[in-house]
Amino acid sequence: MKIEKMGLLIILSGPSGSGKDTVLNELSKQDDDIKISISLTTRPKRDWEIDGVHYYFVAENYFLRKIECNQILEYAVYNGNYYGTPKSIIDQWLANGETVILKIEVQGAQKIREIYPDAVSIFLMPPSMKILKERLFKRESEKNDEIQRRLSIAIDEIKRATEYNYIVVNDLLDYAVSDIRAIIRAERQSSPRLEYLINEVIEND
Ligand code: 5GP
Repeated sequence: MKIEKMGLLIILSGPSGSGKDTVLNELSKQDDDIKISISLTTRPKRDWEIDGVHYYFVAENYFLRKIECNQILEYAVYNGNYYGTPKSIIDQWLANGETVILKIEVQGAQKIREIYPDAVSIFLMPPSMKILKERLFKRESEKNDEIQRRLSIAIDEIKRATEYNYIVVNDLLDYAVSDIRAIIRAERQSSPRLEYLINEVIEND
């Protein structure tokens, strides 16, 4: 029986302002073999965001229809808006043996672990609440009350960090990126993922 190369599913969570987008941007520059899932959301687009690049920005009835048609792998309501991971592309990437990263919040992470028990989860931790607050205010994406809501969600999220396989502190960006790359490198070489090599090596006598 031929054992296929397994894909690697990585969950990246972390409170708003923890730097997930910056880290992912840097990671994808450094590692061509990473596929980053683009979620659907009903949240309004920020000025700098591009539809189809950062998210697919959709209307709520469209999102709900996608759920009904079983085209959403997992979804969550965060701060009053829907966010969801498209299903078919993820299945396709994993079947092709790719490394796939989902940038999702804690409820979605929990659902993905139930569906894919082999998924590897990483929690991106801010160095402190003070720094998180500064980052959220500095990026000027949200109004004051929205930032306060995100900070209060952040505390609940941080309390759940031990549900994750790894915690990476995003103090200095380069270190956080290199820590995540190290985790991905090690996980790609875990023995169940390289089982397909056994026959290849033996057969190439
Ligand atoms: P933001 O509005 O800051 O872009 O995202 C809010 C939160 O939703 C972040 O924690 C982000 O990781 C999360 N998120 C983005 N896409 C998805 C998704 O497809 N599913 C889930 N469960 N969370 C998501």
